Amino acid sequence: MILIVDDKKENIYSLKTLLESKNFAVDTALSGEEALRKVLKRNYALIILDVQMPGMDGFEVAETLAGYSRTKDIPVIFLSANNTDKQFITKGYDSGGIDYITKPVDPEILLLKVRTFSRLYEQTQSLNETQLKLQLEIESRKKAQEELKIQIEHLRSIMESLPQIAFSVDEKGEITYVNHNWFNYSLHTHTLPISHPDETDQLSYFLTHCKELDGPLEREVRIKDIKSQQFRHHLLRIIPIRENDKICNWIGTLTDINDQKLIESKKDEFLSIASHELKTPLTGIKAYVQLLERLLAKQENITAKTYIERAKDEVNKLESLIADLLDISKIENGQMKINKQEIDLEKTINHAIETIQESGYGNIRIERHGDIFDKPLLADPLRVEQVLVNYLTNAIKYAPDSDKIVVKTSFKDSQACIAVQDFGIGIPPEKQKHIFSKFYRVEESSLKFQGLGIGLYICAEIIKQHQGNYGVDSKVGEGSTIYFTLPYNQKNYA
Ligand code: ADP
Repeated sequence: MILIVDDKKENIYSLKTLLESKNFAVDTALSGEEALRKVLKRNYALIILDVQMPGMDGFEVAETLAGYSRTKDIPVIFLSANNTDKQFITKGYDSGGIDYITKPVDPEILLLKVRTFSRLYEQTQSLNETQLKLQLEIESRKKAQEELKIQIEHLRSIMESLPQIAFSVDEKGEITYVNHNWFNYSLHTHTLPISHPDETDQLSYFLTHCKELDGPLEREVRIKDIKSQQFRHHLLRIIPIRENDKICNWIGTLTDINDQKLIESKKDEFLSIASHELKTPLTGIKAYVQLLERLLAKQENITAKTYIERAKDEVNKLESLIADLLDISKIENGQMKINKQEIDLEKTINHAIETIQESGYGNIRIERHGDIFDKPLLADPLRVEQVLVNYLTNAIKYAPDSDKIVVKTSFKDSQACIAVQDFGIGIPPEKQKHIFSKFYRVEESSLKFQGLGIGLYICAEIIKQHQGNYGVDSKVGEGSTIYFTLPYNQKNYA
């Protein structure tokens, strides 16, 4: 839009007509004051300003325009009556475009100048816009960079304050950061702590293989403390950091678990000694109870016989508890022996069911459904029976209001699957995966039912040694089905 400022309507008219005929948008003002009011409200690409006007003259208007940042860049063409005005034209107005035309106006020259100035104005405007955008972009980048710096500092201080050794590794397997705890085990950032000679160096294995790994890693390692020169047990945990689904970094920690490990091995040692020590007097008690039983067999003393029966039951319970504790210490020491031989699985199952039924667990009915196993299987019959007896005992214990258990057997994919279904309290879904862990007991039922939380752990170890699987399917309030499988074609089957 072009603004024509002249106190004479006829001058405005002729100029307006001329410019509009060339498709310029035109606005007009009849005095300097009116022009200033308009300029403050609207954007103009060019002002054609008559020098001689009553009130504010053209120079005064131009000077005022030059004083405002919003208007200082608008180009001005002065219309002067004679050449003598020329010397005043630059006075007080030296920014923005400026030119003059003497009256009478030569239309061609005016149009030429108007075109040049409008183009100049448009270019300046777009340059200004670009500069503003660039400025904003630079500022927002600066801000983002500062925020990133603060975040990195924050993360670093978290890593430094960790009691663990912490480090980061780039996608190529190069260490990019280590916290101060690292230097208790290594003298330099890029030198790995020394691993125990009996173990694979898990750290260097990770660094050379991290390109092939796609998930977190957790291992127990022993590394050498520089000061004490002792190897200490650590838990190595490494997690990938992904960007757009691609691993760009790894964050690792080494947590000192040495004291924990020592306590654990002391506890295992104690368990092993205690259960052996308990076993000796128990064997004696058992023998005396048997002798007493034989002695009383010829007599009619019913009360004494009942007491002996009860004492025998209690001794048996104690014996099985001690056997479990002994099994645990054997598992910890890697000494649990499995004597595999060709067995008749059917016989083992029936024997376990009979044992439970004969041991007088209330009025429980054990039903047997499914396939009959008629092929011989390589397994330790006593250990397989131990697993099944354990499953059945749990099925009775955790279903106090029901009178039925189902033993389901099936043969699939060269595997014998044996499942024990009860109709008892069931196990909450989030707890099911833990029931085969050492010392685990479901909280909700642990007060109501006695136990040590080791039976299923021992079963799991026995099943693993037979290369089988185990699992559970359960619904709270409806019951549980706990199963295990035994493969027919084990790797060591001759
Ligand atoms: P426990 O001596 O405590 O029975 P187990 O190792 O045999 O130890 O079982 C571990 C835990 O699993 C039990 O404490 C119990 O909470 C749960 N559990 C095992 N079998 C059943 C079952 N048939 N029904 C419900 N909960 C069971």
